[in-house]
Amino acid sequence: MLKIGSHVSLKGSEMLIGSVKEALSYDANSFMIYTGAPQNTRRKPIEELRIEEAVALMKENDLSLDNVVVHAPYIMNLANHDPEKRDFAVKFFTSEIERTAKIGAKQIVLHPGAHVKQGADIGIANIIEGLDRVIENTKDLDVLIALETMAGKGTECGRNFDELAQIINGVEDNSKLSVCFDTCHTHDAGYDTKTDFDKVIKEFDEKIGKERISVFHINDSKNEKSAGKDRHENVGFGYIGFDALNYIVNHPDFVDIPKILETPYVTKTPDSKERLYPPYKEEIMMFRKQSFDPEILEKIRKKDVIG
Ligand code: FE
Ligand code: FE
Ligand code: ZN
Repeated sequence: MLKIGSHVSLKGSEMLIGSVKEALSYDANSFMIYTGAPQNTRRKPIEELRIEEAVALMKENDLSLDNVVVHAPYIMNLANHDPEKRDFAVKFFTSEIERTAKIGAKQIVLHPGAHVKQGADIGIANIIEGLDRVIENTKDLDVLIALETMAGKGTECGRNFDELAQIINGVEDNSKLSVCFDTCHTHDAGYDTKTDFDKVIKEFDEKIGKERISVFHINDSKNEKSAGKDRHENVGFGYIGFDALNYIVNHPDFVDIPKILETPYVTKTPDSKERLYPPYKEEIMMFRKQSFDPEILEKIRKKDVIG
């Protein structure tokens, strides 16, 4: 069965219970959370996350912990050339993996890092050094580190399969490393995710091994292929389009792999910034039915949604 969901929030007094309820409200059987705001490293003590109650609610609803994904904050930079800052990233990422294990989730997505002005090779060497320490710190925990395929904006490392392979091959114990394949990012980075996913996966398989993929981020893109931009669009409304995304979501080689939507909230008008409703219930429904509804955003705007 298709394993699909979206990123959901972890907040308020309900914490993880709220995350589960939000996922269920989208008819999702998978979800992704940040353990706190992705832009900072302030985190609540683990005892306040309400994990036990949330896991009980998941059980009641056949939502498996295998399909729960955590995302590390994106300000944490393992590529940092400043050893003190890298030490902080190692320490914080170690604690994020401990939180992930406490929740019972099996993987945490990581943006490999940005080399700032050092060049990709130095950035990658720093990432490898940092990951070696993190993996040593967490070797007894059953958590995969899913390196995300990046769009290549700014000085991001991991903007192609060669860079990801370089990281994976450089790490001493890489049995804990997997890959998060983001459809918007690979398209923006220049891969034919839209027109020839099988060719893209063939290259991935040759360079990394397709069994390393442990999660997909399913996003349309606001930009053309190779734009190097990283701006997500709603399913069917960007340059990738519904058919290509649906092909990936329902691909027979990745049936057991969770698919996570990170598409934008629907705004009041197409051009406004005012967020109205999350699109996830409807986007999930379209992938389950394998059919696109071109009116879907208007329907969500009017909250006039079928199903
Ligand atoms: Fe990400
Ligand atoms: Fe992503
Ligand atoms: Zn992105």
